[in-house]
Amino acid sequence: MGLLEGKKAVIFGVANDRSIAWAISEAFHAEGAELAFTYAGEVLEKRVRPLAEGIGARIILPCDVTKDEEIEKVFGTLKQEWGSLDILIHAIAFANKEDLSNPYVQTSRQGFHLAMDVSAYSFIALARHAAPLMEDRKGSILTMTYMGSEKVIPNYNVMGVAKAALEASVRYLAHDLGPKGIRVNAISAGPIRTLASAGISGFKDMLHYVSERAPLKRNIDAEEVGKTALYLCSDWGSAVTGEVIHVDAGYNIMGM
Ligand code: NAD
Repeated sequence: MGLLEGKKAVIFGVANDRSIAWAISEAFHAEGAELAFTYAGEVLEKRVRPLAEGIGARIILPCDVTKDEEIEKVFGTLKQEWGSLDILIHAIAFANKEDLSNPYVQTSRQGFHLAMDVSAYSFIALARHAAPLMEDRKGSILTMTYMGSEKVIPNYNVMGVAKAALEASVRYLAHDLGPKGIRVNAISAGPIRTLASAGISGFKDMLHYVSERAPLKRNIDAEEVGKTALYLCSDWGSAVTGEVIHVDAGYNIMGM
């Protein structure tokens, strides 16, 4: 029997088959979970729908997380179709391209709000809607973060600040939802080539830098994030909440 047999998971953040959210979905599917997917806009639907249908998903819905009505519709459908929910995956981030290359001091008010809204606030909104469906089911909520929240990573800029807010939200949500038996965690992944990371100026150099300096002397891949997600969202992680777990070949521990 699979680790997630009988569990229902909703996945926010698949853009294509290189997405971290897709690697998590494949790991969950292999362990018997039933999955629902959302996509951000018609262009991405063309990529997400065939992937999702390929692993038997029946619920595939649009959701731009800046729109409350789209979030409500997703959870309304989940309530109607499933009645309950075990796992929520939030693997969503966005910032204006210029805010990921200009000096941080030049971040505009609009750029700051946008990065915070899509990359941090959305996690709170999704958790709020998921929680009532998770009661009495030992629910698990997981988001994706990056070390740019803790240390300066040139060009990561406003996204680092949004990830710091996201990681603090993990702790506050873990406190709020813990009494209902719901766990809330984050994975802090090392750099991986995806659509989102392509928007970060100098990303190729980051990969090279990490592979030279990380204790394991290599980069990580999305499947490795999927395996840690499986641990956190299955019974294996039953006493783990409010944590930010690094999956980064050890890079974050280095001082020099
Ligand atoms: P990705 O481009 O595959 O995924 C990002 C997702 O965010 C996309 O599916 C996109 O549709 C979604 N998104 C953006 N704006 C949205 C909106 N308004 N509404 C709904 N969805 C929206 O890239 P990824 O690297 O798999 O990113 C997933 C998560 O992992 C992000 O939070 C990212 O910051 C984080 N992360 C990535 C890396 C990396 O190196 N790739 C490292 C650490 C953390």
